[in-house]
Amino acid sequence: MADIIYIFEGKPYFNITNKCPCNCAFCIREQKDVVGSAKQMWHNTQPTFEDVKTAVDALDWSIYNEAVFCGYGEPTNELELLLKTAEYMKEKHPKIKLRLNTNGLSDLINCKPTAEMICKNIDAVSVSLNAEDSEKYDRITINIYPKRHLMQCLNLQVTA
Ligand code: SF4
Repeated sequence: MADIIYIFEGKPYFNITNKCPCNCAFCIREQKDVVGSAKQMWHNTQPTFEDVKTAVDALDWSIYNEAVFCGYGEPTNELELLLKTAEYMKEKHPKIKLRLNTNGLSDLINCKPTAEMICKNIDAVSVSLNAEDSEKYDRITINIYPKRHLMQCLNLQVTA
């Protein structure tokens, strides 16, 4: 199995999924096979919560004060796993600050407002804006939701 937690620049990073609705021209996944201490970043199968718990329990957290959700995929693509992992971390290691690095598309990915649930146990969120307008954003990120926003997503669900 690929690394679920790897160390990069002195911090643990969670690589909980390889799924992503974008195909950014600058994505590091296209440039490097691994990052930091990771031996493998591409999962053969989607990690379960049990897999993530095992990875959390195997790490000595005493030397860290922050962990980041950022791997070879968009963490909010596995929202339940992200939320459960953050909750588990706060139970087991409450002193560790949790940060989410995200493309900001969680509401579209999950077809519902997600900020409140994400912020319950995650202390900081870094959103990659990538462009100053939606047209340029769509061109750079090659995302699967061009010109969409959450209300359209909800309407699509209702009328589907
Ligand atoms: S959103 Fe992030 S993980 Fe997804 S393609 Fe873009 S840079 Fe890569």
